Amino acid sequence: MNTRYQPRRGDRNRSTTFACKKCKRPVERSAFGTQHRNHCPHCLWSTHVDDRVGDRRSACGGLMEPIAVWARPDDEWALVHRCQSCGQLRTNRIAGDDADWALLALAARPLAQPPFPLA
Ligand SMILES: [Zn+2]
Ligand SMILES: [Zn+2]
Repeated sequence: MNTRYQPRRGDRNRSTTFACKKCKRPVERSAFGTQHRNHCPHCLWSTHVDDRVGDRRSACGGLMEPIAVWARPDDEWALVHRCQSCGQLRTNRIAGDDADWALLALAARPLAQPPFPLA
């Protein structure tokens, strides 16, 4: 075992990892491309903990489902999350170590199941 997932003693609120509420895998808080990681790089699910990005002030705590990938005008990808508890929509930048296949599967979902017949 490596020591990367050990929280720092006496530093609970700033521990370097948290467990994903969806897939239960350990998630590192800081990652390439973001200081405020708020979604799991394995399954892309998030938790509704912020009123504003990074403030950790929301009382909701609901699981947030990744429902879409949004290609921003600067070619960066963002995830659209919807809270299963309160329905709030939130966009989040993807992180450098998000699972490629999970992002592609999410992006391809509407293409695989178009709501109209293809000619
Ligand atoms: Zn996860
Ligand atoms: Zn919520």
